Amino acid sequence: MTFSIYEIISKKRDGKEISKREIEFIIKGYVKDEIPDYQMSAILMAIYIKGLNDRESSDLTEIMMNSGDYISLDGIDGKKIDKHSTGGVGDKISFIVCPLVASCGVKVPMLSGRALGHTGGTLDKLESIPGMNVFLSINRFKHVLNNVGMVVSGQTENIVPADRKLYALRDSTATVGSIPLITSSIMSKKLALGTDGIVLDVKTGKGAFIQKEKNCILLCKTMVKIGEKANRKTIGVITNMNQPLGKSVGNALEIIESIESLKGNGPDDVMDVTYALGASMIIAAGIEKDYSKAIKRLKQRLNSGEALERFKNFIKAQGGDDRICNNYNLLPKSKYKIELRSGKDGYISEIDAFKIGMAAVYVGAGRIKKEDSIEHGTGFIFNKKKGDRVKKDEILVYIHTNNKQNIEEIKERLKSSIKISSNKVSSPQTIFYIVDKQGIHSWDQIKTDF
Ligand code: URA
Repeated sequence: MTFSIYEIISKKRDGKEISKREIEFIIKGYVKDEIPDYQMSAILMAIYIKGLNDRESSDLTEIMMNSGDYISLDGIDGKKIDKHSTGGVGDKISFIVCPLVASCGVKVPMLSGRALGHTGGTLDKLESIPGMNVFLSINRFKHVLNNVGMVVSGQTENIVPADRKLYALRDSTATVGSIPLITSSIMSKKLALGTDGIVLDVKTGKGAFIQKEKNCILLCKTMVKIGEKANRKTIGVITNMNQPLGKSVGNALEIIESIESLKGNGPDDVMDVTYALGASMIIAAGIEKDYSKAIKRLKQRLNSGEALERFKNFIKAQGGDDRICNNYNLLPKSKYKIELRSGKDGYISEIDAFKIGMAAVYVGAGRIKKEDSIEHGTGFIFNKKKGDRVKKDEILVYIHTNNKQNIEEIKERLKSSIKISSNKVSSPQTIFYIVDKQGIHSWDQIKTDF
């Protein structure tokens, strides 16, 4: 039976259920360039507005996963645990948690993406390291994983091509923030890799694609259900993305902050997320059963320097210059470093992560159009975070830029993102919930163990 794309668009537009064969028709047709971008955009928008039910989401994930090769990791010793974030601003956790968990004996294979919308991309950040190759053949991917314990690569031609094409189209049609589209995008990539477990950092708040906590819980539960159904131990961690994570936003700046974190100098929020995700990975691998022991194990590896060594080995194995770990001057730098100072005394009550992410795009750290190139040395370093006290004229942000011409616009964007209150403000909570196949657990309750 052949389908009419026009009829499928109309069905979804009217909120009707579409069959597995119809979904297959759309996805296969789009990958083969038989369905044009304008019709696919209409389908995406209809899904964005009307949603998909559980059956449709699970079928879409499976069909997208089957659009390319399956990467079997048989023959690689140890438990293989993948980590993925739903996307945020200043999110450099992969560079800290992956070597840390790898140093505990877990194998960490990651298929990552580029910057999307206002959020940064793991591949773009890694490419600020001179020589770094982020597109590996499947054989090289397995070789690095086996020898180093971690590997990061972008999707090459045959790995979930449906997601590669759809991801770019969603980015330019404002259809990223949809629970079924995020679920199928992430889980198709995760299931195309032969891992034993998956740990998901599901971000909630102003800088997340799904902002409301209640919707994030739904997204997280949906992904955990799909992962478990495919026999992968799947754990979701719901984390705060109201303000940027850590102090740095921008590619090379975030690499420096990651290395500092591996040296034991990580900001509190960065380390909170690192330990919550890392412990979940250790638990998914079956190495520990409870969070307090898993976190203790991770802290030992960080303090002994083993995680930093692992990160250096990973850089070397992917062609990069590992001397950057001891000499940050080898990383790209911006031409100018300009200060933004506070106009008044008070307490930082908000740093809007979405607005900061957009300001980072305009300063050169992200892309306005798909074809734009990234200026790896640009971005922001925050001198203050939510809850901090600030005095008039004190530095709020260092702006790293190559362009003085739009500096007033960048400053205005930053000023409108940062709110200062005369009342005392407490520091925000970083981790909210852990979601696994047993259900949802509040982090506060888990934390009482340690
Ligand atoms: N990350 C992904 O891989 N896909 C999405 O849709 C959003 C974030």
